[in-house]
Amino acid sequence: MAVSRRQFITITGAATLGLASAPVFAKPTKKGRVVVIGGGFGGSTAARYIRKLDPEIDVTLVEIHPQYTTCPLGNAVMAGFVKLKSITHNYEILKDRYGVNVIHDAVVDVDPVSKTVRLQGGGELVYDRLVMSPGIGFRWGAIDGYDQAASELMPHAWKGGTQIQLLRKQLHAMPDGGVAVVTAPEIPYRCPPGPYERASLMAYYLKKYKPRCKVLVLDAKRDFPKAHLFKQGWDKLYPGMVEWVGSDSGGQVAEVRAKEGVLINRDGEITRADVASVIPPQQAAEIAHIADLVDQSGWCPVELRTFESTRHPAIHVIGDSAIARPMPKSGYSANSQAKVVALAVVAYLNGDEPGEPSLINTCFSFVAPDHAVSVSAVYRFGEKGLSVVRGGGGRTFMTGDFEAEARFARSWYKNIIADTFGQRS
Ligand SMILES: Cc1cc2nc3c(=O)[nH]c(=O)nc-3n(C[C@H](O)[C@H](O)[C@H](O)COP(=O)(O)OP(=O)(O)OC[C@H]3O[C@@H](n4cnc5c(N)ncnc54)[C@H](O)[C@@H]3O)c2cc1C
Repeated sequence: MAVSRRQFITITGAATLGLASAPVFAKPTKKGRVVVIGGGFGGSTAARYIRKLDPEIDVTLVEIHPQYTTCPLGNAVMAGFVKLKSITHNYEILKDRYGVNVIHDAVVDVDPVSKTVRLQGGGELVYDRLVMSPGIGFRWGAIDGYDQAASELMPHAWKGGTQIQLLRKQLHAMPDGGVAVVTAPEIPYRCPPGPYERASLMAYYLKKYKPRCKVLVLDAKRDFPKAHLFKQGWDKLYPGMVEWVGSDSGGQVAEVRAKEGVLINRDGEITRADVASVIPPQQAAEIAHIADLVDQSGWCPVELRTFESTRHPAIHVIGDSAIARPMPKSGYSANSQAKVVALAVVAYLNGDEPGEPSLINTCFSFVAPDHAVSVSAVYRFGEKGLSVVRGGGGRTFMTGDFEAEARFARSWYKNIIADTFGQRS
């Protein structure tokens, strides 16, 4: 079926409004059709790079929300030194400059046999290659009493947006002398150093406005990433204010009673919190489960040369949903994986073989607005999957220039946003 650009827009609009009876729009294209699910760090980068590498490939990006609020710098918004507006981005450049067809709708099903994607609004998209970067879902109930309703009282604030604003409001309303709790899950989860950045920036805010408050981190782990650097920062900047309790000392939270502001560990010990940010155990986003892309771990196994699913061909899974050990689940990892997938998809649709990739990640964490720490690594694909390239990365020295790291962190953010969503020239 040949569909004109005008008809295509009409069908898309109707589908989004839920008026169409499941139309299949297969826009004719010289090289092939790629559908991308999820317009975050992974999906937007993949869409942009595929179009950049080969403008003859038709790319449709399906994203629920018209705007994307990043998790990176979300803790800075919570602490009040970055505005929510400056971490909120849209898809205009992807559409206007790169010719990506952007549809704001939710994907409700994927059929890997007929290679179709079904939208909540009623439309269907046909693909030659599908790229999925839908992020995370929560394991509701893994902590007794922690469900979606409880998260409105004890915000996870782990997907950006309204939850970050809620946490910010709660900190503002907290009495001086109160206790703020952050819970951290076991690995794997999105942004391994994120809970400790959150605790740091809670302390930054509270020291300024409510200096008799305490911040308590209740951790399901025995240790945590960049621990010595965070602890050094806490001692220097917030002496006596931040306490970390690891799993060996009863840090693992087993139950919450959100209405009472109570957290209970595995030994039945009770902690009362004035504010609690409960970051629950996680898994791949729901659509990855619906599409039968997850294994028993709850995450998506992929072949690490091309990030093609090991469960269904022609579907590439990247970002937080994918199992990409030893890469951490981060925006930078998702961005790096997206470029590998863009190259692989372009190669396949041009009848070529993809090459062997190397990837990169850096995680910056703010301990204060002018004090940051980082860890970075380069990864190479080989016989055993991905491995860390020795000497390719590193972490901030204990005697490092933390102020310079904070400048690098802001500059990293600017650059990755431009690389993900495009930059108007
Ligand atoms: C507090 C915090 C701080 C962080 N700081 C950093 C940092 O400094 N550096 C860093 O690199 N990383 C950081 N991260 C991690 C980073 O946010 C994630 O790793 C990154 O967002 C993962 O990208 P993704 O593309 O996999 O998923 P996401 O960015 O979550 O994008 C997924 C998108 O898919 C959409 N979607 C989901 N399901 C569907 C569906 N069915 N249909 C249509 N659309 C769908 C969602 O709406 C979403 O927009 C941080 C995370 C947190 C929580």
